[in-house]
Amino acid sequence: MQDVGDLLSTLRGAAAAAPAATACLLVLLAVLAAGRWCGLRDIGAPSLVSCRCGKVVIEFPEPQPRYRIGCCCHDCKQKLAWAATRGGPALPAQVLDHTRPLDLVYFANCFRILRGKACLAFYRLREDSATTNCVSTCCNTTLMVDAPFYKEKCVLIQSDAARVETDFSESMRPHLYIALDKWPADKARALPTLATGQTGDPAVVQDAEARKQVFKSFREKCYAPPPEWAVSDGSYYASTFKSILEEAGGAVETIGLVEGAPVE
Ligand SMILES: [Zn+2]
Ligand SMILES: [Zn+2]
Repeated sequence: MQDVGDLLSTLRGAAAAAPAATACLLVLLAVLAAGRWCGLRDIGAPSLVSCRCGKVVIEFPEPQPRYRIGCCCHDCKQKLAWAATRGGPALPAQVLDHTRPLDLVYFANCFRILRGKACLAFYRLREDSATTNCVSTCCNTTLMVDAPFYKEKCVLIQSDAARVETDFSESMRPHLYIALDKWPADKARALPTLATGQTGDPAVVQDAEARKQVFKSFREKCYAPPPEWAVSDGSYYASTFKSILEEAGGAVETIGLVEGAPVE
């Protein structure tokens, strides 16, 4: 039987004799194994959504939004205008002068809160509002919006309020303008052409067949499930809009604003 000294010298000899390539391979295998164990995949960087002061940071697994809309509706504006009266981010001047609509981006309803879980509050604009807004209590940033139309598949981020770190390269231009009838007609006509080739021309926007196609593409992109690895057992992307609302106690406060009315 070998004593410890013999065993050590045998091991040293084996290590010295091991070809460098084998050592490299072992290191590579170890790194790959660690990556799998940590849930790392070659899928690009995740997207981050944070409040203006940085206390709340939310991570979405996908590197890009699934859809992008330029929205001219009263409610999107009113949500941000109300938050601004409480110290939240101001509405951009270009939105106020109708040079561009508010920017809405959509991610799959599958995320994790990296920090600031205790700083979330939930609001609806008025009693019969279908949408629920998640707002940070630290700096009144509107972080996320849920609506029945999203069918718990996706969430909306208003990038004019929240900070959005994502890859916009493939979806730089919005896919769709909505509620253009709420904008001055001349300003609507002057809006930039969309990724779909659509303009703000009301004749194009209100074309029934064109609208049908656009909403079909919204459903295809936004109702598609999150990537399987992000929702598999043990994945840390375990939060949804519903789960964070429940964790916060389930209360949604009604603000009580009249549709289209200016926010005092
Ligand atoms: Zn904040
Ligand atoms: Zn809107």
